[in-house]
Amino acid sequence: MQSLDFAERYSRQVLFPPIGAEGQKQLAAARVAIVGCGATGSALASLLARAGIGYLRIIDRDYVEPSNLQRQVLFDEADAAESLPKAIAAARKIKGFNSEVSVEPHAADLTPQNVEELLSSVDVLLDGTDNFETRYLMNDFAVSQGTPWIYAAALASYAVTMTVLPGEMACLACIFPDSPRGMVETCDTSGILNSAVTFVASIAATEAIKLLVGARDKLRRTLLSYDVWANDFAEINTAKPRAGCRACDLRDFVHLAGEGRPHITLCGRNSVQIHERQRPIDFDEVTRRLTPHGPVRHNEFVLKFWREPYELTLFPDGRAIIKGTTDTAVARSLYARYVGS
Ligand SMILES: [Zn+2]
Repeated sequence: MQSLDFAERYSRQVLFPPIGAEGQKQLAAARVAIVGCGATGSALASLLARAGIGYLRIIDRDYVEPSNLQRQVLFDEADAAESLPKAIAAARKIKGFNSEVSVEPHAADLTPQNVEELLSSVDVLLDGTDNFETRYLMNDFAVSQGTPWIYAAALASYAVTMTVLPGEMACLACIFPDSPRGMVETCDTSGILNSAVTFVASIAATEAIKLLVGARDKLRRTLLSYDVWANDFAEINTAKPRAGCRACDLRDFVHLAGEGRPHITLCGRNSVQIHERQRPIDFDEVTRRLTPHGPVRHNEFVLKFWREPYELTLFPDGRAIIKGTTDTAVARSLYARYVGS
């Protein structure tokens, strides 16, 4: 495919004076990591890739399912049929509309062990996750390294976002020393409007672009929340770090140390994730072994095995998501029986 002329492709964005030709060049040289590529993450990746961010690193632990298609704008029915890892599907989709963006996909769960490898060497980190455990890990990493990051979340009709410039503005732990109550529901329990997702992604992507073109004076220095259904709007001032904050004042990065992190976690929608394994899996060999026990199929990225009422999804590094239970003991025993102990 012939690549489009740079000036032509971005002509409408360059016409916006605060970006201009100079800003567009800065965006082309910029490096961004997006953690989580579900609804918010795919909207962020879509906006930023179309805007001409030169390098996107996309990290996601999950695979595409039919229930994602209502709001996860980078995926289609073929991705769901193939159970493609979201990071891989996102990279393919972006290549189709902007082949000049360098996309580095990682089908991985962000953990204290790999956070440095996965989040280093970028200009800004964007939050596309659905859980506070990962957000606190991102916050600790960002504050410890002085990397800007943008918190973004959407649930039901409600959207919330905050831009963090470490040392200059409040961080996530300044505002929420512990996981906020009432925000630990997931979209599997509360549902979600796709418009709440695209709303929060639009605000967060714009903040990222302001940062990357050096328009720091235009950054919002508040935690913004907006309910697209009720039209409730609120802001909390985040212009200064909070004295006594565990992360930015005391520099006590408990989440980087990975204290108390379980090897098995619940991951929404009636599923358990097993991420203690660090052993390469040979999909052909496992397929042969599992075939007598139930339907099994795999592609290059993921292997799926059905054993009613459970569905096991296995990744090449040995990580697994077991659907059909929230009982970690059941999940562990299924994994031991069908993958190995
Ligand atoms: Zn703080």
